[in-house]
Amino acid sequence: MSIRTIIGLEIHVELSTKSKIFCSCSTDFGSTANSQCCPICIGMPGSLPTLNKKVVDYAVKAGLALNCNIARESNMDRKNYFYPDLVKGYQITQYDQPLCKNGFLEIGQGKNIKKIGIKRIHIEEDTGKSLHTNQDVTLLDYNRSGVPLIEIVTEPDLSSAEETKEFLESLRDILKYIGISDVKMEEGSLRCDVNINVANENGKSFSNITELKNLNSFKSVVKAIEFEENRHRLLLQEDKNTSKETRRWDDIANITISMRSKETEYDYRYFLEPDIMNIALSEDEINKIKETLPELPRDKRERWATIFKLPEYDINILTSFLELANFFEETMAYYNSPKKLSNWIMTELLRRLKEEEMDINQLIFTPKDLAELLDLIDKGVINNSIGKKVFMEMFNGEGKPKIIAEKNGWIQIEDIKVIDEVLRGILRENPHSVNDYRNGKDRAFGYLVGQSMKALKGKGNPQLINKVLKKLLEE
Ligand SMILES: [Zn+2]
Repeated sequence: MSIRTIIGLEIHVELSTKSKIFCSCSTDFGSTANSQCCPICIGMPGSLPTLNKKVVDYAVKAGLALNCNIARESNMDRKNYFYPDLVKGYQITQYDQPLCKNGFLEIGQGKNIKKIGIKRIHIEEDTGKSLHTNQDVTLLDYNRSGVPLIEIVTEPDLSSAEETKEFLESLRDILKYIGISDVKMEEGSLRCDVNINVANENGKSFSNITELKNLNSFKSVVKAIEFEENRHRLLLQEDKNTSKETRRWDDIANITISMRSKETEYDYRYFLEPDIMNIALSEDEINKIKETLPELPRDKRERWATIFKLPEYDINILTSFLELANFFEETMAYYNSPKKLSNWIMTELLRRLKEEEMDINQLIFTPKDLAELLDLIDKGVINNSIGKKVFMEMFNGEGKPKIIAEKNGWIQIEDIKVIDEVLRGILRENPHSVNDYRNGKDRAFGYLVGQSMKALKGKGNPQLINKVLKKLLEE
């Protein structure tokens, strides 16, 4: 019996606005508990919410990047439920009129491109956070209460854990590119619930949908889907069914555990939020937001493959975030060997940034400086290993590459007379190695090159040393 898996996602993304959705409290992550809340975001009686315009702009931006239709008019609703970290007893969200509808995101390559439908994107407020201590006490932190979210709901178009992972990675890249969220899963700014069930290939027999919650990494998304897929398949094969329920993933036991039966929309008693005016967007406003969209990752990768002809691996790394991609392209404006530049960025630059825990925006040198450094190496003014030293100095803010090389006396020695003289001295000092070489021991040559390089303080042109040394040994 062939069985297929059906997966739909509900993704909550924290928007990186400076203030919350309905008040001016800060959204900074990691501040002292309950230091960033006011009567509005903790829902004190009589407080009145005011919608943050930036939240609407960001949601529209996400909608446009995900090919959605943007609603000219929408509104906010109350979703009623009780939960300790939801002080008001209801969450302000959007129900029947979301800001964005009917979009899609493509995954896969070439002939295997698959369109994953985006059912809706709506805006809503986040809840507070419960902290369970080991003394059986639960503490509540309301700093997160009222932080703006978008909820992205997909159509049930995904059919495996692998596809889901690809979709989420692609979505994360897009949201990061358009600058509306830092999409850090570990800080809770990207949270994913998975709806999963299985069906017979003929579509006659379905298992009931399970909702998977508390998935806090792409790895746990994959593992939870694989586990649940298997559980549903086994039950279906035995002609039994799963119950319609919400389950959580246990990262230690590697299993899903039932939490509660799944709520229906009816359970929430949605009704129109009376304290917030309807949201109206003009064609003009939407177009203005459209103009702020950068080239999206997929388009960029395709363009780069054509113009820079770099391997897919390099392209994926260099386009993984917009600032890095921009840095590469800006450097390419002054330099013409994409692969060489790519190697330098992927090794030297990214390594240094990681070591210093720095952001590429904090670099002291410019793309033009890096192009100049690579030019100096290409022209033989400095050799590759000196180039790495110059790079370190540039990184530390010591100035332009040429000046650094000159100041430190690192300019490569090209003067054939100087090299000839130094090399003759080396041969005189190492008669044994000279003899060995003449008796066919090739390793002796390497040793003599090393000694010559040392005598020239690393500044000799390696090709020139090789040439002159061979000539002298054959005299
Ligand atoms: Zn507040």
